[in-house]
Amino acid sequence: MLFRATASAIRSQLRPAAATLGRQSPALGRAFSVTARTLGDSPRSLNSLSEDEQMMRDMVSRFAREVVQPRVTAMDEAEQMDAEVIRGLFDAGLMGIETPVEQGGAGASFTSAILAIEELAKIDPSVSVLCDVHNTLVNTVFRTYASRELQEKYLPALAERSLGCFCLSEASSGSDAFALQTRAELHGDHYVINGAKMWITNSGEADVFLVFATVDPALGYRGITCFVIDRSMGVQVGKKERKLGIRASSTCQVTLDDVRVPRENVLGEVGKGYKIAIEILNEGRIGIAAQMLGLAQGAFDHALPYLFQRKQFGSRIGDFQAMQHQYAQIATDIEAARLLTYNAARLKEEGVSFAKEAAMAKLYASQVAERASSKVVEWMGGVGFTRDMPVEKLYRDCKIGAIYEGTSNIQLQTIAKILAKEYQ
Ligand SMILES: Cc1cc2nc3c(=O)[nH]c(=O)nc-3n(C[C@H](O)[C@H](O)[C@H](O)COP(=O)(O)OP(=O)(O)OC[C@H]3O[C@@H](n4cnc5c(N)ncnc54)[C@H](O)[C@@H]3O)c2cc1C
Repeated sequence: MLFRATASAIRSQLRPAAATLGRQSPALGRAFSVTARTLGDSPRSLNSLSEDEQMMRDMVSRFAREVVQPRVTAMDEAEQMDAEVIRGLFDAGLMGIETPVEQGGAGASFTSAILAIEELAKIDPSVSVLCDVHNTLVNTVFRTYASRELQEKYLPALAERSLGCFCLSEASSGSDAFALQTRAELHGDHYVINGAKMWITNSGEADVFLVFATVDPALGYRGITCFVIDRSMGVQVGKKERKLGIRASSTCQVTLDDVRVPRENVLGEVGKGYKIAIEILNEGRIGIAAQMLGLAQGAFDHALPYLFQRKQFGSRIGDFQAMQHQYAQIATDIEAARLLTYNAARLKEEGVSFAKEAAMAKLYASQVAERASSKVVEWMGGVGFTRDMPVEKLYRDCKIGAIYEGTSNIQLQTIAKILAKEYQ
């Protein structure tokens, strides 16, 4: 009851704000966001947010504290996302953040989505990645590349009740994603799809599967095509992987065994799936950077009050210079990760190239998350090492930041390739 009341209170604040934003054209929306950050002609700090962005951040922070926090430990131990949390995200309008209001979404900006992912990750990175994949990958693919018919059919459902997942990786194609082997063969007005996808976030609970498959292996990456597949079309979801961290987030194998998909469920053009995957993962990386940033800040926020309560040798441990230097350093690292992340988000919104900055943000924020959560466990001593403290979980959760949506080596490769072009 309390949960429903909280979700609906948050929703009642978010929806009118979303409606106001959504009435504006995308161009006006961008202009609004840029104007909000400028004072006359003087650019303002990256940390300055528009009123709508501040409102999104504050509301998600409240949702995370009131709805998610009481369930975090139980979800981690059960390795299961609480269905009430997913329902609450939909009810609060957080599953269609950038979806236009006319299609049931909040009509808010990309930066608003990034702020939501960051706030959720402060409390639970598992809930954060569920919201992130659904918003920055699945919804964005529909908004950017889908036909009007597919948008009208799927975007309202994705904003209100249907969870989505993004199925690219396979057992033999991870970093080398375009070596995928899932096959789509055209038979009249249907494609028949066969293959197996690995590591699919949200697949345990998802209704909508974006599946990348090749229509002709001889075409190499130019055969890769993106399909929209409903669970009811015959998708089989395997058992959940048992993981080091983000345990409440479902990660499963997805098997497609002679799944018949109507021809009109090709998302974008046949053979252009590789382009969709590249472009969408560039954006998605900013989402993972935000998740890692939130995780680092969440760990820091748990530890700092403890440092000023705990006494040893007659002094608060936070007053020892050796400790002061460490928390000053970590605070600086977190601030740098935040600036990289927000900058990448602003560049994306401004419609200029952002692939290098997104890769830098994801690489660095995941490094900072590892460093910060490790230090925080140490700062809290034996207590920090126990499962009674949330920092133990955040320390386990951080490792995934260096792996999914492109490993750290792959981010470095992306950065290096762009630098080489800039300097050659
Ligand atoms: C919890 C979780 C959730 C995930 N969610 C999704 C999802 O929703 N959808 C999806 O499609 N995928 C998902 N993935 C898959 C994820 O994107 C891949 O695991 C990741 O891309 C790495 O691929 P891999 O595991 O095959 O590792 P590999 O590609 O085998 O890499 C192993 C190691 O080799 C290094 N390496 C590989 N190639 C190079 C190179 N050229 N140069 C230098 N080093 C290299 C890597 O950096 C890494 O350290 C998820 C994975 C996990 C663990």
